[in-house]
Amino acid sequence: MSRQLILPKLCVTILKGIKNRTYFETWDVVLLYEEFMREALKEAQKAYDLDEVPIGAVVVKDGEIIGRGHNLREKDQDPTLHAEIIAIANAARAAKSWRLTGCDIYVTIEPCPMCAGAMIQGRLDSLIFGAKDPKGGCAGSLYDLVRDQRFNHRLEVIDGVLEDECGQLMTDFFREKRKHR
Ligand SMILES: [Zn+2]
Repeated sequence: MSRQLILPKLCVTILKGIKNRTYFETWDVVLLYEEFMREALKEAQKAYDLDEVPIGAVVVKDGEIIGRGHNLREKDQDPTLHAEIIAIANAARAAKSWRLTGCDIYVTIEPCPMCAGAMIQGRLDSLIFGAKDPKGGCAGSLYDLVRDQRFNHRLEVIDGVLEDECGQLMTDFFREKRKHR
């Protein structure tokens, strides 16, 4: 989707969440989202360079990154080592608390059930992600775990931030994989 289309869509989403803000104020918020998503993309690129599925995440508190992570499942042969889990664990270590209230997580791809679960367990405020995962996403695609009213904690969700770039990295990775099979 083009930037021109994404920005108004995001602004509308944000306007719904943040009351008493003008349209133009929300532009600054969008730029901030993009700034942190670029950091998540840097993490995703690190995974790509390690021949891991290129997903990256950062946890932000008060405008500062307190946890970063990229997928390390292959390298460590551990199914739990997704970008989000690593970023959340690093953030909890930095905050010296498992409770990450006031924190937002930025992920390049919609989270799986395990990571969506960790976001609920960590009591994060918001989830901002890039591209949807129609085959496994649990923030609106297959399930909407992070916004399920039956849980004792829910997250605000913003999707589509740098969607093209986040998705393209995945497309490139799997195309490359198929070529070398
Ligand atoms: Zn995951």
